[in-house]
Amino acid sequence: MTLDGARPSGAVEIQRRGLMLVLSSPSGAGKTTISRRLLEIEPDLVLSISATTRPMRPGEKDGVDYHFVDHPTFDRMVAEKAFLEYAKVFDHQYGTPRAPVEKWLAGGRDVLFDIDWQGTQQLAQAAREDLVSVFILPPSIAALEQRLKTRAQDSAEVVARRMAKAADEMSHWAEYDYIIVNDDLEISIQRVRAVLLAERLKRHRQVGLAEFVKGLREGT
Ligand code: 5GP
Repeated sequence: MTLDGARPSGAVEIQRRGLMLVLSSPSGAGKTTISRRLLEIEPDLVLSISATTRPMRPGEKDGVDYHFVDHPTFDRMVAEKAFLEYAKVFDHQYGTPRAPVEKWLAGGRDVLFDIDWQGTQQLAQAAREDLVSVFILPPSIAALEQRLKTRAQDSAEVVARRMAKAADEMSHWAEYDYIIVNDDLEISIQRVRAVLLAERLKRHRQVGLAEFVKGLREGT
C-alpha cells in the first residue's frame, strides 16, 4: 500500500505492514467526527467495528456502528479468544474482533480503532510494534459539556455520568503516543493525518525495503 493513499501510475510500491491507529478521548471531544472524516479521505484506512452488548441508539446500524450482540454471545467470543482486546465501559461490554484486524495488517491496510484507554493498554501489551495511539482532548470542559448536550442522543442522566467519567478518562492522556487538543476540527484532522503519514514511513513497517534496496544495489 502507498504511504499517503495517493496512487500515481508507475509509482514505486514498497510492501508495508499496516498499523493500528487508536483514537481515544472522553465522549464529546470530537473523536467520532474525526474518525469519519479520516475514513473518507484515507483509502488505505479501515475501521475496526467493535462488538458490544450495549443497546443500539437511534440511527445506529448493526454491523456498521457496532456488532450488537447479547451477553452470551459476547462471553462466548471472550472464551474463544475472538477479541484482540475487550473491556467494560460504563455498564456495557465492548470488544475488538481479532480476525479482520490481523488480515488487514498483514495486507498492508491501516486499521482505525475507536476504543477507550483500557483497550489501548491491552493492544499495547499484545502488539506494541503495530500500535500508534492518539488521545484527543477537548479545548475546555465547557466545550465538552456543550458537545455532549447538543448530541442529545443520551438522557440527561447519561450526559451527567459521562461528564463525570470524562475527568477519569482524561487522566490517561500520558499513556498515549500523540496528544491532540481538538479546538478546530480541520486542524485536528490534519494533525492525525500527519501522524499517520510519519508512522507509515517507519522503517520496521516497510517490510519490502530490504528487497527494494537489494534491487537498487544490484541495479535491477
Ligand atoms: P459508545 O457506547 O458511546 O459508542 O462508546 C463508549 C466508549 O466505549 C467509547 O469511549 C469507545 O471508545 C469505547 N469503545 C468502543 N468500542 C470499544 C472496544 O471494542 N473496546 C474498548 N476497550 N472500548 C471501546
